Amino acid sequence: MRFEPWRLEVDSTGSPPIHEAECTTCNAASGAADDKAEPELWCLRHAGRTGHSGFRGITTTFFRATRLG
Ligand SMILES: [Zn+2]
Repeated sequence: MRFEPWRLEVDSTGSPPIHEAECTTCNAASGAADDKAEPELWCLRHAGRTGHSGFRGITTTFFRATRLG
């Protein structure tokens, strides 16, 4: 297999990284936010309300491939 000269970079032209959190007990989700403080605060509120203490943090980052040749 031959690889073409492509470069992969973080795509800064579109959306910034998206942060989200999910409860590992009931799968409730914080919803997407640009600032990771929002899902972190949601975790604490959810823990206070439900007693659930395990969470999954998800960050979605966008990449863009560019052909060099
Ligand atoms: Zn929960």
